[in-house]
Amino acid sequence: AEQAMQEAKRRHGGIAFAADIGAEPAPEQLSLIGDMRDAMARAEFTLFYQPKLDFRSGRIVAAEALLRWQHPTRGMIPPVRFIPFAEQTGFIREITPWVIETVVRQLAQWQAIGIEIVVSANLSALDLLDPKLSQRVRCLLVRHGVPAHRLCLEITESALMADPSMAMEHLAELSALGVKLSVDDYGVGQASLAYLKTLPVNELKLDRSFVTAVDATPKNAAIVQSTIMLGHALGLSVVAEGVETPAEMDWLLKHGCDIGQGYRIARPMPAQQLPGWIESYTAP
Ligand code: C2E
Ligand code: CA
Ligand code: CA
Ligand code: CA
Repeated sequence: AEQAMQEAKRRHGGIAFAADIGAEPAPEQLSLIGDMRDAMARAEFTLFYQPKLDFRSGRIVAAEALLRWQHPTRGMIPPVRFIPFAEQTGFIREITPWVIETVVRQLAQWQAIGIEIVVSANLSALDLLDPKLSQRVRCLLVRHGVPAHRLCLEITESALMADPSMAMEHLAELSALGVKLSVDDYGVGQASLAYLKTLPVNELKLDRSFVTAVDATPKNAAIVQSTIMLGHALGLSVVAEGVETPAEMDWLLKHGCDIGQGYRIARPMPAQQLPGWIESYTAP
């Protein structure tokens, strides 16, 4: 087991996944794994979509798909309560393909009614190790007639750094398909500028911790402003997540941030609400 652990750590840049080392999960976790399997079969997972606003045009140009689990007895379970666990157990390898397929089907439906937005899905570190990822994405896009540039994949810095060479290889394949790539929670992880230089990404998504009170916190302002400059110098679009107040929104607009996402614009909503919401939205 110790040898397996060392091997897993070597492959994943110091992160050992329970799925690789065959570690026994605790009993209450076993029930959650069973629950997750059932949840998939019983269609208790659903995606909510949170709009992304293009500051300059005042238009909704994209949305992020966020996983929700409507548990029959525990109620709505937020992703922070089960995604880390799904990552540790390897169950994320069953969740992510479902998420991506659901997003691509949704894109096809929206496309059919004239809603042409980019939709992003979140990837975990384990997903980046999957050698079939880009092939599966390509098949889905072809099958549903969705152009690759309508799909964006959000990847955290820590997921990128778990195995940078593997991530690079698989991201290059996705990028070659035309799929958009976004560095999520930018600034809180350990991705170096050297990686930013070589990774084929299209977007930097500033972590909410820097966006909060950016208008009134000089250190946040300095970080956000320099990230906007860096992003633009590298030809990347810069997204601010967790925009909650009019003052944050004004500040971001004035300082050249490209896209905003947050409660100030809209909370994540069920898929069927999004078209009507977009139709009636006017930028503040
Ligand atoms: P994230 O990717 O950073 O997603 C943004 C989170 O911030 C979402 O929480 C969203 O609802 C929340 N949020 C958006 N605007 C605001 C705001 O103005 N204020 C505040 N306080 N929060 C805001 P959520 O949906 O609970 O998701 C949490 C995390 O779970 C996500 O963080 C992501 O890391 C993970 N996650 C969600 N869905 C998936 C998925 O399908 N796959 C994977 N691998 N991870 C997912
Ligand atoms: Ca995200
Ligand atoms: Ca994020
Ligand atoms: Ca975040």
